[in-house]
Formats: sequence, C-alpha cells, structure tokens
Amino acid sequence: MSEHVVVIYPHPDDEAFGASGTITTFREKGIPVTYLCGTLGEMGRNMGNPTFATRETLPEIRKQELIKACEVLDVELKMLGYRDKTLEFESREEVATNLYSYLKEIKPSLVITHYPGYAVHPDHDAFGAAAIRAVEMFPEEERPTVWAQAISNDHVEILGNPQIQNDVSAVFRKKFESIMAHKSQADGMLSKVKNESDDVELAAKTWLGTESFYIWNFE
Ligand SMILES: [Zn+2]
Repeated sequence: MSEHVVVIYPHPDDEAFGASGTITTFREKGIPVTYLCGTLGEMGRNMGNPTFATRETLPEIRKQELIKACEVLDVELKMLGYRDKTLEFESREEVATNLYSYLKEIKPSLVITHYPGYAVHPDHDAFGAAAIRAVEMFPEEERPTVWAQAISNDHVEILGNPQIQNDVSAVFRKKFESIMAHKSQADGMLSKVKNESDDVELAAKTWLGTESFYIWNFE
C-alpha cells in the first residue's frame, strides 16, 4: 500500500493547531496529505482581534483562510460542507458513509482525527467518531491505521500516555505560518500566550511544540 495521509477534523484551524507539524514532516518525505475539513467554522465566536469579520462575512473569510493554510502546508483540501456546531446532531452512520466514500477513493495508509469523548468540542467528538466508523467500513486487511488526538485535560490520566508523540519544534516555523493563515482565529487564540511573553512564536512553540496521538485499537 502506498503511503497517503488523510486528516479528518471539523473546523478550519484544527489542522493548524493540532497536526500541522506532523503534516509538514510527512510532506517533507514526499507523502501526500489530504485534509477532509467538515465545516467552515462559520458559527465561531472569534471575529478577529481587532475585529474584522461579521457573522455574514465569517464563512467566506474562514474558507479563504483554510485555503491559504492548506497552501502553506501543501496539502490537498476537500471541504465537506457540513454546518458548524451541528455535527453531533447528524446521523453518525450517514457522516461515516460520506467520509468512507472519500477514503475508499484515496486508500490512505493513515487517518488522523480527534479521539471521540476526549476532544473537548462536540463537533470534534462527533466527527472523530464518524471518521473511526468510516475506517471500520474497510475490510480489515485494507484498513488504514488511525491516529486519534485527545485534547481534554484528563486524557493522559484516563487513557495513559499517547503512543505517538511528535516533537515538531524543528518544523515549528511552518506550523506557526499555518496557524497565522487562520487570522480570524489565531489572534484570539494566541492572545493568551501574548499576555505571558513578548515573543509569541517562542511561547506558542512551548505550548504547541509536541503533537500527540493514540493509535486506535479496533479490537
Ligand atoms: Zn475545532
């Protein structure tokens, strides 16, 4: 099986904050990466800091930011067009079937998604669960590996240490660039580090310098 990584997250910027260092490492090895992005994050509360978006302009702004971030990371982007903050109300089986239709074309070797139940946001939990269900639809011998990302504060306590811990400090410049592509979100997210340090990039590196994943067990 040739290597191809598929990243499945619900929001523009999940890839940048969560996996852009890992994505960069794969791209540097020439491994293709496709991002299946569930929504446009159009219900988000961040409107830029200082504010430059409105409820009406936010969907298009976030779409352009997402396209830019994917150019920075050199990944193929598929926008799935679900509505933001409603994924938990969609039928898991229908979302999984839709995701599977992409996966069976791409035939990935690895799928990266959120760890359901430990991913803090209902969209993350629901989309992660649907992604894992989609991978389960493959015959066992064709199933890609799944790396599931937990975010909640209690995840190490409950799940133990993640098997994959990628130190992405060597490619942090690229990660920071992809985060900054999401301008409407980044300024708000980074303002908390800004309060603690003058060097935002350095502070962000301490905060976001490792990307961790659990290898999903289908047994
Ligand atoms: Zn998100």
